[in-house]
Amino acid sequence: MRCNQCGKELKIEKGILKEDCLQVEKQWGYFSKKDLEIDEFCLCEACYDAWVAGFQIPLKKKNQTEAV
Ligand SMILES: [Zn+2]
Repeated sequence: MRCNQCGKELKIEKGILKEDCLQVEKQWGYFSKKDLEIDEFCLCEACYDAWVAGFQIPLKKKNQTEAV
C-alpha cells in the first residue's frame, strides 16, 4: 500500500499495516455527480497533516481514552 499523495510505501509486516495512515473509501450517492462510483485512497501521516493544515476550519481534536 502506498500513500496516494506522495507515493511513499507504507510499512506492512505480515499483512498488517505498521504505519498509521488515513484510509478513505467513499461511495458517492445519487445526489453527487459521480454516478455511484466508489473512490478509494490513503494518505500517510505527513500528507494528512499537510492536507488538514489547509482547512478553513481547523480539525476538532479529541484524545482517545485508553480502553484497557
Ligand atoms: Zn504521503
